Amino acid sequence: MDMPTRPTESLDLFVNARQQFNQALTWIESIKVGIIDYLINPKRTLHVRFPVNMDDGSIQTFHGFRVLHNRVRGPGKGGIRYHPDVTEAEVSALAAFMTWKTAVVDLPFGGGKGGVACNPKELSRSELRRITRRFVAELGDNIGPHTDIPAPDVYTDAQTMAWIYDTFDLMHPGQNNLAVVTGKPLEIGGSVGREEATARGSLYATQQLLERGIVPDMQALDGARVAVQGYGNAGATAARLFQEAGARIVAVSDSRGGICNDDGLDSEQVLAHKNETGSVVGMPESTAISNDELLVYDCDILIPAALECQIREDNATKVKARLIIEVANGPLTAVADRIVQERNIVVLPDIVANSGGVVVSYFEWVQNLENQQWDIDKVDRKLRKKMLRAVDDTVDRWTALNKRHREGFNGNRVGPTLRDAALVTAIERIATVVLQRDIWP
Ligand code: NAD
Repeated sequence: MDMPTRPTESLDLFVNARQQFNQALTWIESIKVGIIDYLINPKRTLHVRFPVNMDDGSIQTFHGFRVLHNRVRGPGKGGIRYHPDVTEAEVSALAAFMTWKTAVVDLPFGGGKGGVACNPKELSRSELRRITRRFVAELGDNIGPHTDIPAPDVYTDAQTMAWIYDTFDLMHPGQNNLAVVTGKPLEIGGSVGREEATARGSLYATQQLLERGIVPDMQALDGARVAVQGYGNAGATAARLFQEAGARIVAVSDSRGGICNDDGLDSEQVLAHKNETGSVVGMPESTAISNDELLVYDCDILIPAALECQIREDNATKVKARLIIEVANGPLTAVADRIVQERNIVVLPDIVANSGGVVVSYFEWVQNLENQQWDIDKVDRKLRKKMLRAVDDTVDRWTALNKRHREGFNGNRVGPTLRDAALVTAIERIATVVLQRDIWP
């Protein structure tokens, strides 16, 4: 199967997921054709609509989703997002990314994802609590410690996870329900290290990638100029950890805009400013830039850590970074992916780069099931091992695919990307288990 050099651009995240998947398929030696549809499409999609009492005495109906994409390797696993733009297509794509992520980093999970279309910035804490509790009640037994396990995502946090646990626990008395959700507060079964796990994992992955010599003339983070889009859980923590590891943070942004300073921004001071004012914008000794300018800022490493489809056909040609670390899920469209490949920009794909979050979620789940509490050294050591292994597996597969490409494999005109390599690894691992378990009946 040969692919056109560039797919047609779509801003539908599931179309992009499918384009990524189809491209990876062109690198697979053999696969049972009949299972392809099963591997790309969600196993189950739930829509729930539910009314909630608002603070002003009105009633509002909300639309929530939970997609279980695949569970052949274990229960579904994936975050819950609160955002006005949440759609079935977006949640399905994010669930597919989770299936591939848990496979490439080799966790005994499948993929799931959920969301409620709402604007948390306009909702009070008690409205968010009522939305969360009612959403969990509507999901009923479709989530559970051994079926489908939620976690935090955009605009949900440890408090949201505490409400999810509490609601599920009230509905299932008399048993240990802690493992129904991860990313909980430490006091109720959360794991040390979970909050910064996504960013810490991305740091370890980046360091290993550089050590493997994949980015020409960049063997270490020392002195690397880094721009970060999104200053939430993942982005702000990544900025701090990359800075601590020797990088210089030259630009950051959030939903209200961006700031830059070529001498370096202090990530902690930027976070303090954001906590105080609600945005990174207006930080003393920084220059304001737009989010569009941030993505094409003169830097060595670009870390998109906000939302999907941020780098597209129109700005991919202008990206100046030599390395993109996808801390967000799906920040590049499939077309942008191809453009940056043609421009020799290396992309560490989301399913590897941000997998630290689900890795420590897995550790939390194991601790909950065994009534254990690990210390930070153990969590950190095990996280680092998983991340290094995922990067090594990806780079090794990429090297092998490059060799096949030089031999003319499948007539592919363009060589493999690290994303192709990671997806080939994931798809093969899942397909193997489908066939080992065998098709019932
Ligand atoms: P978050 O809600 O904590 O932060 C999101 C940040 O993005 C906020 O600073 C917000 O202001 C900013 N933002 C929103 N729209 C923006 C825009 N148009 N331009 C620039 N910035 C914008 O969310 P998070 O948990 O940090 O997640 C961010 C990304 O990382 C998402 O793609 C998420 O799926 C991915 N991710 C998160 C985790 C995790 O453990 N939190 C794990 C894996 C992947």
